Amino acid sequence: MDDAQLDRIAEMLASAERGVSFTGAGISTESGIPDFRSPGGFWDRNDASKFTIQNFVRDPEHRKERWKMAAERRSFVRDDVEPNDGHRALARLEELGLFRGVITQNVDRLHQRAGSKEVLELHGNATEYMCLSCDDRGPISDVIERVKAGEEDPSCEHCGGIVKTATVSFGQQLPADIVMEARRWSYDADVFLVVGSSLLVYPAAGFPEIAKSAGADLVIVNKEPTPQDETADAVVLGGAGETLGAILERVEARVGS
Ligand code: NAD
Repeated sequence: MDDAQLDRIAEMLASAERGVSFTGAGISTESGIPDFRSPGGFWDRNDASKFTIQNFVRDPEHRKERWKMAAERRSFVRDDVEPNDGHRALARLEELGLFRGVITQNVDRLHQRAGSKEVLELHGNATEYMCLSCDDRGPISDVIERVKAGEEDPSCEHCGGIVKTATVSFGQQLPADIVMEARRWSYDADVFLVVGSSLLVYPAAGFPEIAKSAGADLVIVNKEPTPQDETADAVVLGGAGETLGAILERVEARVGS
């Protein structure tokens, strides 16, 4: 890592008043959850075109396979993972009053478990289930227990409807209120910090563009280049945990805590 560059980024973050973090699957790989598009990622092992809401509703065999994957911890439904230094650093930036919170594409709830208070989940979360008919919700572990006990395609215990993780699948709308709030944060941000996102999926990848065009300093921390590196004010090609840990140390030294 380049010390001078980390110092420059820490300077930007330490003077932030309305900083916003924006995260993708890459911040959680160090916790053991694979991302989508890296080699060995989820789409290397699964056919993306099948993972639509239409397929889930239409095809009981697809639902059975999805629940089997969840019960065997082969998906993002995981109860055996912990937040890492990357999640903790972003929570600390919020605690220091420099950052407003996190906009995340992740569904793993690791930001909240690391201490982040303000988290806008663009794609819902995989720690809860929801009934597609009556909107009954509860812990995903309840459904996983039923699958492990032999129910291949568990239905809603209240209305018999189709049950699914409380996530946004391909073909489903992003929650309009969350998108609106994320847009507001992005327009209003003075520093916008992207961590672990390929920035290939819209509308999510549009938030750093909004922030930059509205005057924010754009910082990107990712293992590989993204399409927005050219417009960014600083880019670190590296692991999220180590990089954010090194930046946070410098920020704390500057704000005197
Ligand atoms: P993505 O897979 O498209 O991109 C992840 C990026 O993170 C890649 O560019 C990769 O180089 C980088 N990366 C991997 N490990 C890293 C590390 N340790 N440090 C820094 N960078 C690292 O993921 P995306 O941009 O989030 O978009 C895809 C979608 O994936 C999201 O919509 C999300 O819903 C879903 N998803 C969520 C989870 C989760 O909740 N943990 C996991 C996989 C996918």
